[in-house]
Formats: sequence, structure tokens, C-alpha cells
Amino acid sequence: MFVTPENRIALISIDGDPAIAIGQEEAGGQNVYVRQVGEALANLGWQVDMFTRRSSVEQPTIVQHNPCCRTIRLEAGPLEFMPRNQLFEHLPEFVCAFQDFQQREGCQYPLVHTNYWLSAWVGMELKQRQPLVQVHTYHSLGAVKYQTVPDVPIIATKRLAVEKACLETAERIVATSPQEAEHMRTLVSSQGAIEMIPCGTDIEQFGTVRRLAARQQLGIAPETKVVFYVGRFDQRKGIETLVRAVALSEHRGRRGDDLRLIIGGGSRPGKSDGIERERIEQLVADLDLADLTTFPGRIEHADLPLYYAAADVCVVPSHYEPFGLVAIEAMASRTPVVASQVGGLRYTVVPGVTGFLVPPQDEVAFATAIDRILALPAWRDHLGELGRRRVKAMFSWTGVAARLSELYAQLLSQNTSIPQKSSQPLEILTT
Ligand code: UDP
Repeated sequence: MFVTPENRIALISIDGDPAIAIGQEEAGGQNVYVRQVGEALANLGWQVDMFTRRSSVEQPTIVQHNPCCRTIRLEAGPLEFMPRNQLFEHLPEFVCAFQDFQQREGCQYPLVHTNYWLSAWVGMELKQRQPLVQVHTYHSLGAVKYQTVPDVPIIATKRLAVEKACLETAERIVATSPQEAEHMRTLVSSQGAIEMIPCGTDIEQFGTVRRLAARQQLGIAPETKVVFYVGRFDQRKGIETLVRAVALSEHRGRRGDDLRLIIGGGSRPGKSDGIERERIEQLVADLDLADLTTFPGRIEHADLPLYYAAADVCVVPSHYEPFGLVAIEAMASRTPVVASQVGGLRYTVVPGVTGFLVPPQDEVAFATAIDRILALPAWRDHLGELGRRRVKAMFSWTGVAARLSELYAQLLSQNTSIPQKSSQPLEILTT
């Protein structure tokens, strides 16, 4: 017999393992989101299990993060890293593994919060088989993403259909910015229940170390002008624009100015994100920036506060960004942000108050905005203080988790957990 404690919930993030090292091979904001939300919800009294795909034999199947929160790795497909676009065919195995797990534990989760379209499919499939409330966060919308990439993958048709079906059938969709909610309505479907709850950041972890102390620890001189990027190496991240902007900076090669570009993130050569990293390294060499550029590689989340605090400006040059955790992490650390005027960045960064927003892929505009901040340290500090204030008020994980917790409680109390049929023809949703 199944026991269903009301406070037991599952977060499903097949492609984004919440227990894995962040910053390499497709591991980024989604992984951080699931882990932080999971742990914060556990602190609020939920019993949280975070399900992901096991991608190597060395990985333990269960990682206990705290007494009420753990990562559970289910086998679906080969025990090796697989790019997201190749995972769809293994989803039925994931569904079966999830059901087997429930059987072994003698429980059924009354609510699953799915993340990214692959997990959305799993959530919808589970709903055909058991009573379930589904909450979903997209993290990236195919309908927007495919407008920004030169080659649309074969999986696109399936992804778009799943994203539409999920929007129309999930008990609640969590949009992480008003811009994302608008994209859902205009590009995906006019039906479905959307609630805007942003992503968050740890305001205790970021913002406690000051600029000079951070520089001392990192061996950076007080007068050096530091431009900082951190994130995955993916063309969508627009690192090329940043490099070209720094090449145009007025501070480059100017007497008395010591300009430094730090590009953090990425794996060692031979990994799937290595091609973009090699391309960027080549560009840095071609533009004669090798002397002033460093690539520290993946930066541990524990070391990140130092880098953000040491920087004069943090640049987020993405072509598309549903939310963009890096921007709020930098702002929490009192570092102004120059970001592309896209997606969630339009929500988090306030132009002239916490940094600047400029058109994506416009290196001249990026160079101008970066130079304005580098030229006036007192103004940089002012923008930094306002940024921290904004993050504290709007984007702390504790506040975000409290809103999610309220949402779950409300949906569970409405007792909507009856098996639902999808509004989409089933053949679209089958693998
Ligand atoms: N990150 C990290 N170390 C790195 C690179 C990235 O810890 O070397 C973290 C970064 O701090 C942020 C996340 O990865 O929390 C990236 O999230 P974001 O939303 O900015 O981008 P995404 O990866 O979702 O595209």
C-alpha cells in the first residue's frame, strides 16, 4: 500500500543534477536552482527528493544534503554524460525508474516540480499513471531559444509540443521573470496557469567580502580594472561579444591603466563545452588580449564571492537568458552588471541604477557601458550598493522558497491531484 505524506515532494531535473559540480558541460543555473530550492524547502518543513539522471558509474545513487533533502539518481540511458538533445528517447526508462523507486519506498509523491522540458514530459507521463500535482519551471523556452540559434535541432518539434502541452496542463507554471511569462503567453499558448516567482541567490554567501580584501586573496592589485564573466561555455552566452568589447575598451593599453579580463567557467579540454572554450581562447589570441585575459576554469561556488567582489564590473552578454543567476549574484556582491537587454536580465538589472542593459551581440555598446563604469569608481560603488539592496529585497532564496512553499501548499489543499488527460494528441508526447 502507498503512503502519501502531504509534505513529501519530488523535484525532477533529469538533465540538471543538483549534486554535481557547477560551471561545466551544461551544468549551470538549473542545477543551482533545483539544489537551492530543494534545500530551502527542506528548511521550511518539506521532505524533498530531487530526481536526476545518473550519468556515471562513479556517481552515488543517493546524495543526502541534509536530513530532509537528498538527490536521487535514476538510471535512464547509458551511464555517461549525454547532451540534453539526446536524452528524450531515454525518458520512458526514467518514468519506470521513478515508479520503481516509489514502489520500493512505499510512497507516492503528491506533488512534483519538474524542471526543463524533458522533465515536463516525465511529469505529464506520470500524471497519466498516478494522482499528481505538477508544477513546472521551464528554465529555457524552445520558442525563444530557437530564434537565437543558427541551427535548429531535430528535436525542436517535439520540444515545442511538450512545452505547449505542459503549459496547458500543469497545475502551475512558475515563470522566473515577467518577461518569461510574456514569452509563454505570446509564443507558447494563451491557456494555462502561470505564476511569477523569480530565481534567488544566497545573500549571506554573496556580499560579505569587500573588494580590497577579495583582491588581496586573489592576488589582484587595488588599481587594476577587472572585467569579469562567469558561466558555461556555450555560444548562447555571448562570450565572443564580451571579448570583442574588451578589445575596444578605452582602458586597454592606456598609460597607468591595468585592465584585466577574467573569464570563469568551463571544463578541461576534451569535454563537450571545450569547443566553445577553444574558440574563445583563439579569439582572445587573435585580438591580442592574451596578456590581459585569464581563464581560471570552473570556479567553485564557495570561491565565487571573491571573484564577484574583486571585479569592477560583471558582464552577462547572453543572446537569450530566461533569468540569469549570475547577474543577481554579482549584484548581491555589490558589483555592477552590464548585461544584454534580453529575457530575465531586463527584470533583474535596472539601467543606470544597478548597471546597464545593452543590445545583445553589440560589442560597441558593451564597450561603452563597461568603460563608463570603469571610469568612475565612486559611481561603480554607488551602483553596487543599489544592486545589493535590490537583490536583498527581491531575490533571496529564502524569500523565493517561501513563495514556492505557499504555492505547493495551496495547490495540494485544492486537491487537484486527480489523473488528468493531456490536451495534446498522445502521439506528440510519445517518444
Ligand atoms: N557557476 C559556477 N561556477 C562556474 C560557472 C558558473 O558556480 O565556474 C554558476 C553561477 O554562479 C550560476 C550558475 O552557475 O549560479 C549559472 O547560472 P545562470 O542562470 O547565470 O546561467 P545558466 O547556466 O542557467 O545558463
